[in-house]
Amino acid sequence: MNIEFFMPARIVMGPRCIEEHSGLFGRLGSKALIVTGRHSAKLNGSEQDVRAALHKEGIPYALFDKVENNPPVQNARDAAEIARKEKVDFVIGIGGGSPLDAAKVVAILATNRLGDEDLFSGVFPCKPLPVAAVPTTAGTGSEVTQYAIMTWHAIKNKKSVASNEIIPQLAFLDAGYTETLPLNVTVNTALDALSHALEGYMSVRSTELSDLFAAESMKIIGRALHELVDAANVSRAVREKLLYASMLGGIVITHTGTTAVHALGYPLTYFLNIDHGRANGLLLHGYLEFLAADFRERVGKALNYMGCRNLNEFRDLVNALVGQKERISAEEIENFSSLSSSAGQLPLTLKVPSIDDIRLMYKQGFGH
Ligand code: NAP
Ligand code: ZN
Repeated sequence: MNIEFFMPARIVMGPRCIEEHSGLFGRLGSKALIVTGRHSAKLNGSEQDVRAALHKEGIPYALFDKVENNPPVQNARDAAEIARKEKVDFVIGIGGGSPLDAAKVVAILATNRLGDEDLFSGVFPCKPLPVAAVPTTAGTGSEVTQYAIMTWHAIKNKKSVASNEIIPQLAFLDAGYTETLPLNVTVNTALDALSHALEGYMSVRSTELSDLFAAESMKIIGRALHELVDAANVSRAVREKLLYASMLGGIVITHTGTTAVHALGYPLTYFLNIDHGRANGLLLHGYLEFLAADFRERVGKALNYMGCRNLNEFRDLVNALVGQKERISAEEIENFSSLSSSAGQLPLTLKVPSIDDIRLMYKQGFGH
């Protein structure tokens, strides 16, 4: 049995956990940069709770509240300028995956002057600043991962900065912040979290230990997704379970990486502006069908964890959740297939899809 397991993030979960554990911020540094999106952190109370905690601990801070969805590198560069000017020594990301990932890149760029190529190399001359993360979506698991996914216009795609040095040292999980999420974002982000657990389970890097986390995550999200079909609203209990399960999914991909689904999903987000989690969700059934030909037993176990008796039941569940699908042309399928066929995640899939397999997954995803 070959296992290596590394998880430096201190994970604190529970209602009002920031208030109760405010003292932990002081272990990261003496002046913070808070990094958020434009609106949600102000509306769901998370930014106010972090401000109050820092105030209580006597820690001064600056604020960058302009992170865009699927942040381009320049967005993080703008925030890093403020980090340098204000001489902060740690960064607190609050929000969905976009602000959390931007916070990680700010932590790198605050101590390193790097061109884009060097940033994406994942090797830095100076140690990045410590990062704390407060997720307000239940999807990316970024609060525990070494990845920061940025939009890189030079390659017309999204790309991951990966380094163990940007794994947040502190993650505060309070499901109360996710209560303001609209139903469609709740569903899309849950599909992202499911994708992490499932892809990690189908990764060449999976181990007995990562499978434990993946199975638990798939069980919880599978149950929640069945409840979300036709739901008018989402209970607090379900929100808490989703936040927990998305963190588990983050721990999975920290060890396994993502695979073909994420590789194929990025062009859908870059070119068609389809939400990250939704893009993955659209591709999941085709991916499992592709893998089932050679890994029937493993796919069967995954379906069982997700509460589905077979692939058709899984397809019907996802279709019910995603509703009306976007239109995609044959030319776009061709372009995206060639773009994603060289993605770094692809070879981590248990069986590496050929360009024909990739084309088929796109076609199945959009009902072609
Ligand atoms: P997101 O892009 O962070 O946020 C999507 C939208 O949801 C934004 O408009 C945001 O508003 C809003 N929002 C966030 N929290 C909310 C809340 N509690 N209530 C109401 N609205 C809220 O979405 P995401 O799906 O969490 O993150 C996607 C990004 O993460 C992608 O770039 C993806 O590639 C990346 N990702 C990273 C990892 C990793 O390991 N690092 C893994 C998977 C995906 P505001 O802008 O106003 O905040
Ligand atoms: Zn993802």
